[in-house]
Amino acid sequence: MIHPATVRHRCPVCGTAHDVPEILHRLSYGRQLTCGPACKAAFRRLVRSRILEELARRAQPGDPPLPQECPGMRGADKS
Ligand SMILES: [Zn+2]
Repeated sequence: MIHPATVRHRCPVCGTAHDVPEILHRLSYGRQLTCGPACKAAFRRLVRSRILEELARRAQPGDPPLPQECPGMRGADKS
């Protein structure tokens, strides 16, 4: 008996376990694939909203920009 070349994935949207062809599994680079077109579309929206959320968080004003002064520089100009 020959096993089909599939890998079990769990849909990141609805959680359904499903088999995907091994070639698709390799192309997914370790990410879990969605179980169907509807979940694929939902997952894209999810990813995009996460990215926008991350960008919005990075754009927040008031973050400390850079370290003020390097401690190693202090003695250098006094000598
Ligand atoms: Zn799904």
